Amino acid sequence: MADNERMEKLVSLAKRRGFVFQSSEIYGGLGSVWDYGPLGVELKRNVKDRWWKAMVHARDDIEGLDAGILMSPRVWEASGHVAGFSDPLVDCKHCKQRFRGDDPRIKGTPGQPDAQCPACGTRGSLTAPRLFNLMFKTFMGPVEEDAAVVYLRPETAQGIYVNYLNVLQGSRQKIPFGIAQIGKAFRNEITPGNFIFRTREFEQMEMQFFVRPGTDEEWFEFWRHERMRWHVGLGLRAERLRFHRHEPGELAHYAKAAYDIEYEFPFGWNEFEGIHNRTDFDLSRHQQASGKKLEYFDQERNERWLPYIVETSVGADRTALALLCDAYAEEQVEGETRVVLRLQPALAPIKAAVLPLVKKDGMPEIAKRIYDGLRGRFTAFYDDGGSIGRRYRRQDEAGTPFAITVDGQTTQDGTVTVRHRDTLAQDRVAADALAAYLAERLEA
Ligand code: ATP
Repeated sequence: MADNERMEKLVSLAKRRGFVFQSSEIYGGLGSVWDYGPLGVELKRNVKDRWWKAMVHARDDIEGLDAGILMSPRVWEASGHVAGFSDPLVDCKHCKQRFRGDDPRIKGTPGQPDAQCPACGTRGSLTAPRLFNLMFKTFMGPVEEDAAVVYLRPETAQGIYVNYLNVLQGSRQKIPFGIAQIGKAFRNEITPGNFIFRTREFEQMEMQFFVRPGTDEEWFEFWRHERMRWHVGLGLRAERLRFHRHEPGELAHYAKAAYDIEYEFPFGWNEFEGIHNRTDFDLSRHQQASGKKLEYFDQERNERWLPYIVETSVGADRTALALLCDAYAEEQVEGETRVVLRLQPALAPIKAAVLPLVKKDGMPEIAKRIYDGLRGRFTAFYDDGGSIGRRYRRQDEAGTPFAITVDGQTTQDGTVTVRHRDTLAQDRVAADALAAYLAERLEA
């Protein structure tokens, strides 16, 4: 299957099965904003829960935080986002399309007569690159004036920096320690696209680890390997994961060292997590701009210093997309094409589907009872519409790992069949042992 065909099929499955819809679709859609449907919201929630458990609950040196999306505009001046968070943009005066200044499809130098528009092919129609700020602006309070401008945060990290002393005091942590946060971020991306890969509203899962200067390189190494291990643990194929080390010319203004974790999406290798050694850049900028001391007092050494920060920043949406791309499979079964999402069972939106073989002989009633017993503990789904084969196929496409069928034998001996999504093997299990059977396999 060609890569673009694979992507098209995935987008169409995502809509058909209720994973992801285009925002405001009945009005023609809103550019690069997507809505998560019933299955998508479960998948993304499972990703976020997994991250929170690994980063916050399983560790005693990381605390959670949920800061506001709106912050003082001075935060973004100090962080460098007002001045520097911009991409050079080129417009075509002929076809009115807009490109990034570094778009590899542009031939020649934009602004010069020889430059050629990559869309309409016109020569000399491209403007010289102009800077364009990626932050969304809005107004706070009743008057829409410059003094009332606030920004939608373009990253969650700054909410952590400005709160680090609050968290430190309240939690009795000592450096080294970290603060983790999951939340929405907004960027007015110029060239969004590739479905939920680059969007204008997205969710980040960020952790900032505060360390003593001089120990930062060690922690940086620790965290980049730890984060790669986490992705492998999600079931993503190891051969589709790699590190990309930023060369000196590529590094962001705040970073001393950076690695991206990349996944091989159908549209190529692309970043979905960044690990950065941000040094004391952020805290020193905030200390200077706010006039508030942000130093840490190291009791053991009897010294004051500004901590260095190692950041791990991963997109919940890009992780969900990587999981969907990795899981999508088509195979031939008995002369038919079976589409199946081979998501790790613990990440699957629905864990168990309960299906009466036929809609008579007491089977729906038994199946309903089983379904009622399971939901609340597992995400379960009841379906008695259409042939059993069609119902299995619907669950395969949703990535449901276990399909539980109530048949004639159930009415005799109280057992059901459990069909496994990946192997198509069928086990006979006593209905009252189902919860334990599923729990064991979902925790495995
Ligand atoms: P890119 O170069 O792809 O725009 P970036 O280097 O600007 O990404 P970071 O600022 O390091 O990204 O953000 C960390 C993570 O947040 C990214 O790895 C990605 O998973 C997520 N992210 C950033 N921008 C977007 C976006 N527009 N849509 C979806 N996720 C995003």
